[in-house]
Amino acid sequence: MAEKIKKCGECRLCETRTNAVPGEGSASAKIVFIGEGPGKEEDLQGRPFVGAAGKFLTQMIESVGLKREDIFITNIVKCRPPENRDPEDDEVKTCTELYLWKQIELINPVLIATLGIHSMYRFLPQTFKISDVHGKPKKIENKRSGKSFNLLPLYHPAAALYNGGLRETLEKDFKRIPSMLKKLEKES
Ligand code: URA
Repeated sequence: MAEKIKKCGECRLCETRTNAVPGEGSASAKIVFIGEGPGKEEDLQGRPFVGAAGKFLTQMIESVGLKREDIFITNIVKCRPPENRDPEDDEVKTCTELYLWKQIELINPVLIATLGIHSMYRFLPQTFKISDVHGKPKKIENKRSGKSFNLLPLYHPAAALYNGGLRETLEKDFKRIPSMLKKLEKES
């Protein structure tokens, strides 16, 4: 799948990318983190969340006793939108249908943690507000596979990095992940 993504030419983002960023981590991860799309540093290195927001994400992951190798981190679109603009609807549709849903099916995680609203709205209708639903796991039926998984909406680390209040909220939500994972694993 990663090799296919690296060569992908299915949408216009391939024209401006340096490297596609398939995602990285364990194929048997219990938790998958999904961001919006690669930024400048991710595009240069071909790896997800390696810039400033990525360093903050890694810190939070490690602070709760997890390692990046044991989880899986990816994005809704695998190529950097020019000037970090929001990905367009057709780019998101093409990329998720070709790659993201299959990655989720292959990994079959217990918990999917979305980072920010763009990622959250791939799973929940836009009537949901992140300020209401962040940090609380929600059972979702995967209509494609018939399997269910738990969704954990989180704020995006880039938004939280320079906003003290959001940062505290995101760190608090992160602290609950290990016990949440244990509980959900038992139930699944
Ligand atoms: N922001 C994202 O949403 N994804 C990355 O990979 C890096 C920054």
